[in-house]
Formats: sequence, structure tokens, C-alpha cells
Amino acid sequence: MRIALAGISHESLNFSPLVTSTNDFQVWRGQELLLADSHFAPYAAGGPTKQTYASLADMMQALGVEPVPILHAHGLSPSGIVEERAYLQLRDEIVAGLQRAGRLDGICLILHGALLVENIWSGETDLVRSIRAVVGNDILISARLDLHGNLTEEFANKTDMWTVYRTAPHRDAPQTLERALTLLTRCIRNGHRPQPVFIRIPLLLPGEIATTDVEPMKSLLAMVAEIERQPGILTAEILVGFAWADAAHASGSVAVIAEDETHLPTARQEARRLAQAMWDQRHNFTFDQEVASSVDEAIDRALAAAESAVFIADSGDNPTAGTPGDVPYVLSRLLDKEVPDAILAAIPDKAAARICFEQGIGATVTLSLGGKLDTKHGEPLTVTGTVEHLYQASHEANQAAIATLRVGGVRILITDTRTFFSTLNDFQKAGVEPLDHKIVVVKLGYLMPELRDAAPREILALSPGYSDMDLTRLPYKYVTRPIFPLDKEFAWRPMITNIAGYAG
Ligand SMILES: [Zn+2]
Repeated sequence: MRIALAGISHESLNFSPLVTSTNDFQVWRGQELLLADSHFAPYAAGGPTKQTYASLADMMQALGVEPVPILHAHGLSPSGIVEERAYLQLRDEIVAGLQRAGRLDGICLILHGALLVENIWSGETDLVRSIRAVVGNDILISARLDLHGNLTEEFANKTDMWTVYRTAPHRDAPQTLERALTLLTRCIRNGHRPQPVFIRIPLLLPGEIATTDVEPMKSLLAMVAEIERQPGILTAEILVGFAWADAAHASGSVAVIAEDETHLPTARQEARRLAQAMWDQRHNFTFDQEVASSVDEAIDRALAAAESAVFIADSGDNPTAGTPGDVPYVLSRLLDKEVPDAILAAIPDKAAARICFEQGIGATVTLSLGGKLDTKHGEPLTVTGTVEHLYQASHEANQAAIATLRVGGVRILITDTRTFFSTLNDFQKAGVEPLDHKIVVVKLGYLMPELRDAAPREILALSPGYSDMDLTRLPYKYVTRPIFPLDKEFAWRPMITNIAGYAG
């Protein structure tokens, strides 16, 4: 059995003034996709076997599949809308690769689900449309998605099945791809043509209020497990959606995928039930961590805390959701309050980083810091401090150079490119041990698993920026209204909007 692997995964926050170009993607082609794609580094198999796969190649071998790896382009960091030219280049390379691939039994797409492209909108929809145009409708197409994706009816019509992460913070990316491949190979072997039933739900949910270890996502995912145990149901999936995409198709969605037409009635009924359950919970999505309604409140609470270290998430300017990440607002509050011991990770500022590297460790420098990429939510901040540490970037590994500048009690990590600090090692590169400091500010929403496990206490600060948790403060123009929570009082009932839903 020959299965092609391809995909473009990116999360695009189109409020951001930064456009995403070719250099913002890491691209794996051919065998390197199978062996070097770091997303599929050794991991534990999703099934009951307790097996560990060394690579994507290893996993596909275990499935008895001959892989035909084409291209996987992965956005190095979520950011603004993707340049049309950059997208088309990647798309056309995938399409050409599929045309050259010879006879295929199936295609598995590695996607995020929140790819927005200039003039094209949903990149995933355009990609699957372009692929269908050359491979026809007979071949099965499966896709793997992040649950922070926004799908369209056309995507649902042209894709036979998809699997979605079931953890946020994400811990199951490779297992989700494994499921996409497993279901695909099963359908090919059994000669089944899956029938997805897709329902969009008029809901915009910041990811931070829809994490999966707590309610209501916990119960909704339990319902998913119950639905997919029914005979003839291939899988059930929930997309929380990506709320910081200002696009007509931005919304949560559910899908129940029947393995063939016979089981469509069950899939339709269960999709409606799942969609209704998600809608009914709309008022109950909430943060699973401590929240401070302002940055000052977060700092005051951290200073008064008994814990030795408190992480504060600057959630409004969260580059892992695609913002520029250089709003110096929290930094200005730390300095104004003369906080005696804090780390701020980080401010991306190429010019400021260069000055630190030129002047060297021990030098006193005055910098105009941040506020250059996102000019709406903050102005450059003038600071004078001492360069304490310099970390040279390894550009092959797509790392940022980091200068550590000490201003009073605050150590500011200044990077030469946009990046984020999501592991302890990220901090250690900058010469700091985060757990040894009273306040650690991170430009994140929820903390990634390693930091979450390590942090004695975590406060999410509702700070200003393009990933504002209060969606009513953002300048939406294109989302389809009414949509909750921008609109509060409107009636809605689950409506199946794709072809498998209408048919019969
Ligand atoms: Zn995600």
C-alpha cells in the first residue's frame, strides 16, 4: 500500500501586521520528512501496544505502508497571514510531487487547520482543492489537524477523514497523525469510503479557555470517545477553532465520520448531538489556571506570593498564537514597580540585540526596546542596563540569538528574531534558571507542558495585544455573525453543512 505524505501547517493570526513568508517555514522534503521531521521524533504509540516509534518512517513501516513522502512545510512560529506567493510555491511543489508519485492508494495531509493565505483565505481548503484537481475523487485523503483550526465545508467535502489533537496544551501531535494514517489504511484495506458529517458551531474560543484536562472539554472529549465506539463510526472529532483569525470560516466545529454510507444516519445524529453539547457549554468554557484581570494585579500577587517562583503569562501578546510578541507593556510595569527579581522572556528586537552583541558582556547599554513590530499596543521603551549573557544562535536549528540585559532587578531576554520560551532549556540558553527567580514573565497563553509541570505557580495576566483573551476588544471585520461571544443572544440549532450531511 502506497501512501503519500504532504502538508503545510501554520497558525495565522491575521490581525498581526507581520506577513509570513517562505523563510518562516521549515520544509522537509522526501526522506528527510520521514526521518528528520522533529515533530515525529521518538514517541509512544497511541494504541495499547506501549510501543515507541523512532520516526515517522518507523511508524509507517509498522502500519505496513510504503511511504511516499512529498513535502511538509511547518511554520516555525505562528504569525501573520501567509504571503500568497510563499504558499503557492509550497502548494505547487506538493501537487507536482503527487503527480510524479505514480500509483497511490491514499494521501495523508499533515495540517494545522488555521492557515490563512493572502487573497485565498483557508489554505487547507485551497490545498485539498488543488490536490483533488490532479488526483481525482477516487483516492482517499486523510488529514491530521491541531484542534485550534477553522475548517470549511469545502474542506469537509473534499477530505475523507480527519483526526484532531485531543490535548491542549498539546501532547498528542504524533499520535494524532498515527490515527490519521491508521484510519486511512484501514479504510483502504476494507474498501470503505468514509462519509464525514461536519457541523460548524458559531463559537470563537481562545484556546486558553478550552484546555482539555478540565470541563467542559473533558466531558465533550468523553462524548467523542463514546460516539466513536459505535459500529460503523470511524472517528468523532472536535475543533475548538482558532479565535484570532478574522475570517468568515473562523469557528469551532465537530465532525463524526461514518466508515461508509450505511452508517451515515448514525453519524448525522451523533454529529448533531455533539454539536449541540458543545454549543450548550458556551458559557462554561473558562480558564483552568489562576487569572489576573490586569498586569499590575498579576505582578502584585506574584510579589506577595509564598511560592519561590511565579510564572506570569503575558497572554495578550502571545507569539505562540501568532502575535508579533514585542509589546513591552509588562516590562514597563515591572520597571515602574521596581520589581527586585524578575525575568522577562522575551522581547524580539533585532537592533537592540545587535547592540548588546556588539558591546559585549559587562557593557552598559541604552536601548529603545520593543514596540516596533506591534506598534498598536505599545511604544518602544527606553532602558539602560548591563549585558549579562550572550547566546549565539545556531541558524541551522532555526534558533534565535539571545542577549540577557539586566535593568535593576529585571533580566530582559532580548532575541534577534521572534521566538518563544516554552522549556526550561530555552531559559538556560540565556544563562538564567527560571525557578531561581521570583517572577518569570513569559509571552504565552497557557504554559507548555514542561513549564506547566515545573512552575510552582502560574498566573495568566489579561494583558493587551493581538491575542487579547477578551475577544470583544478585537477589531473583527470578516467573521460570520452572529457568533458567540461577539454576539450573546441568538438562537442556534446544529445544522449539517457538508455534502455527506445533506445526502440521503
Ligand atoms: Zn494548537
